Amino acid sequence: MTTEYAKPLPRPAEPELTEAFWEGTKRGELLIPRCSFCDEFFWYPREACPRCLQPGWEWTAVSGRARLHTYTVVYQPAHPAFNDDVPYAFAVIQLDEGVRMMSNVVDCPVDDLEINMPLQVVFDSVTDDWTLVKFKPA
Ligand SMILES: [Zn+2]
Repeated sequence: MTTEYAKPLPRPAEPELTEAFWEGTKRGELLIPRCSFCDEFFWYPREACPRCLQPGWEWTAVSGRARLHTYTVVYQPAHPAFNDDVPYAFAVIQLDEGVRMMSNVVDCPVDDLEINMPLQVVFDSVTDDWTLVKFKPA
């Protein structure tokens, strides 16, 4: 999918840490850190595994299957650049691999959202340089 954005988008605070993630989204792959010691997935990317505190982990492609853990519907955006997007779902997504990430649920009227509904990742190429991870009903 492609959403035409003519607005400033937030940029990663540590681009060297997340570069592989963003390259993956451009290829249509959702990559999540997986600990090389205890095999746990975790989110967000950080220097060490939050479970065992070991520093070794690898970007690992995941299925993209998920459930809607919780959400809120945004009717009044915090920035006027998002006025055309409302109402939209700002959601916490539970990946089948066990980690939770924040995203949007798209291709679904906000009145049809249900906690625990099955979702599938989609990749939204918002600019030539950035492809965002979003989710749609599975
Ligand atoms: Zn670990």
